[in-house]
Amino acid sequence: MASDTVLVLNAGSSSLKYQLVQPDSGEVIASGVVERIGESGATVKHRRGDETHEFVGKIADHQEGLEKAFELFREAGHDLAEEGITAVGHRVVHGGPKFYRPTVVDDEVIAEINELEDLAPLHNPVNLLGIEAIRELLPDVPSVAVFDTAFFHDLPDHAATYAIDKDLAEAHDIRRYGFHGTSHEYVSQQTAEFLGADPESLNQIVLHLGNGASASAIEGGRPVETSMGLTPLEGLVMGTRSGDIDPGVVMYLRRAAGMDVDEIDAVLNRQSGLKGLCGENDFRALTERVEAGDPDATLAYNVYIHRLRKYVGAYMVTLGRTDAIVFTAGVGENAARVRTDAMAGLENFGIQLDAERNNSKSREARVISTDDSAVTVLVIPTNEELAIARQSVTALEARA
Ligand code: AMP
Repeated sequence: MASDTVLVLNAGSSSLKYQLVQPDSGEVIASGVVERIGESGATVKHRRGDETHEFVGKIADHQEGLEKAFELFREAGHDLAEEGITAVGHRVVHGGPKFYRPTVVDDEVIAEINELEDLAPLHNPVNLLGIEAIRELLPDVPSVAVFDTAFFHDLPDHAATYAIDKDLAEAHDIRRYGFHGTSHEYVSQQTAEFLGADPESLNQIVLHLGNGASASAIEGGRPVETSMGLTPLEGLVMGTRSGDIDPGVVMYLRRAAGMDVDEIDAVLNRQSGLKGLCGENDFRALTERVEAGDPDATLAYNVYIHRLRKYVGAYMVTLGRTDAIVFTAGVGENAARVRTDAMAGLENFGIQLDAERNNSKSREARVISTDDSAVTVLVIPTNEELAIARQSVTALEARA
């Protein structure tokens, strides 16, 4: 039998990503993605080592998607019972005011996550679909919910508070929660380890730039600012999300365009950001259009970079002293051009990229600033699945 493993699930509305991880070594034993759940032509792509196994067909719901994935485990020659799964770790986007530690799931926890639906209507209900499906399929294996908001629970009050009516905010739990916390925590810890620095004395800015994007300022291992707020809509320009806008735009759309709240929600979350500006949310395709001189793509790119630099500047002042700036996630790890443009002309702030280091392709953690740059600039690959697996084990051990 394999040694203890954790199955990590990340359930989206019509997709489900899974990874079977060995939490100590970080070894990925198998991984896969179920896509287009509920649509015709659903797919499951399962990978184990160099082998891939695929299913194409009809998948009615998340439970059926997982059943198909389990069949592909068997097709690849491995029975799930032989995988030594000790826990299933679930990414849950919003923990609300109550959940800020990895939490072993029971019926009460499910009911409480359900109650947070108003805070995260796009995310929490679909995260629960994954939890419920796996509880049916692997009833004897404990599930642990790991919340995207948890790391930012202790943001200082002045960073967590919106300047709105205090009683209204209290009545509806309105505060800045922050998201991508699992990634910001993991990456900031990796940075300290990579630099051989004491985390307590390291001030860093972490830029998680993927389809969703967020920045955080971390002082001695504790976050003091982050760009996302009550929901994952605030902050940087993202693939399909606007990031910061004047809240007046919402009322204006209601009054002037006659849109209802769901339509405005859809516009800001799904039809904005890079996609809203140029019709393209995939950064690779966007970059190709920028290089070909496409004006809409160029403006979208420039808005993206401008916002990013604004946050870097703000967080340098928030921290007072910045030791490290860290790029992570799909765009942050791979798009050398974004790193160049985000850090350009900041020599007076002690930031100097090394062009050769920045342009070299690598999947490893690495420094991309010059040796005499006062601020060390790094690329540190994120690994939310491994972080979720490790936190799941810790939560189970704490319960034992
Ligand atoms: P994530 O959400 O972290 O998976 O990041 C997804 C985003 O990373 C997508 O917009 C991808 O286009 C982008 N991305 C991945 N690889 C590259 C690359 N080599 N260059 C530019 N963007 C990339």
